[in-house]
Amino acid sequence: MNQIMKFQSQLLNWYDLHGRKNLPWQVDDSYLVWISEIMLQQTQVLKVIDYFNAFISEFPNMKLLAQADINDVLALWSGLGYYNRARNIHKTAQICVQEHNAILPLDLKKLMALPGIGQTTAGAILSLASNLPFAILDGNVKRVMSRVYRVGEIKLSEYTNKLWQLAEQNISKQRPKNYNQALMDLGSLVCVRSKPRCHECPLNTLCQAYQVNETELYPPKKTKTKQIAVTLHALLVIKDEKILLRKRGETGIWAGLWFLPEFIGKKSSNLLHSIKHVLSHRILTINVYKNKELVDKIQDCHWVALSDLKKFAHPSALVKIINAVDLKY
Ligand code: SF4
Repeated sequence: MNQIMKFQSQLLNWYDLHGRKNLPWQVDDSYLVWISEIMLQQTQVLKVIDYFNAFISEFPNMKLLAQADINDVLALWSGLGYYNRARNIHKTAQICVQEHNAILPLDLKKLMALPGIGQTTAGAILSLASNLPFAILDGNVKRVMSRVYRVGEIKLSEYTNKLWQLAEQNISKQRPKNYNQALMDLGSLVCVRSKPRCHECPLNTLCQAYQVNETELYPPKKTKTKQIAVTLHALLVIKDEKILLRKRGETGIWAGLWFLPEFIGKKSSNLLHSIKHVLSHRILTINVYKNKELVDKIQDCHWVALSDLKKFAHPSALVKIINAVDLKY
């Protein structure tokens, strides 16, 4: 048996015993696989499950999603972050209805031409929903491949190309669906970022980094994205179980989401609370005030019943603030 066959069979044997098989999107349905794959970008499986179930119960198919108001789509995304993912899902659904009979095309290039679908998502849709032999290269797969084959310390584009080459060379033609799921599961359950559980790994006899005791050197560390510190000043006004919110503009942080009305602030004795909130490129300090006299000067606000908040797309920072302050001030 050659090395690639060993890789496949050891991985698939492990999957049969230990892999995930009961996730709600593990069905032969490209719509469900697509929604889950987009949600799983930058987000852990456990967090995604509830969001996925709520989303699918509201939009069970492509046509209903395409017809939906984008605000309703964003509302179901509230708290998941990276809201462009939801906008792209909505645009893609509309394109599929107009151009592909309301289904995702069964073709790598056509899939990759749709908003928000890159090669990994396209490969996942084709392999997980239709058992076609297309590779994927998400963060978990990259980590496993870079350790097994000791791929590191080269330019980023070469590094990614090399990993794609390995991912494509190793894919099982017989069981691509299980093979890709197995690699993702191995990366998230065994070959974890720090302290990988190599002694229980099905690939440890093949893993070059493990053999030379260098697992911590792979994958190579990324240069950290510089996070810029930003301070926001916001008003918290609550009356009769309703909160005053304003829809943010179409660009910038939390574009198009509902948040507290903001103002250009100066230090104020009316400061209620200050919270830190970290985004991928920003470290926000949000100062929350109770200057009710400013309310009249702020345009375009809307009273929202606290019990209706989930119908209005909002960032998780809003819930953090509501939970942190005494609403009866
Ligand atoms: S042996 Fe260790 S480092 Fe190598 S793939 Fe398995 S868990 Fe990852």
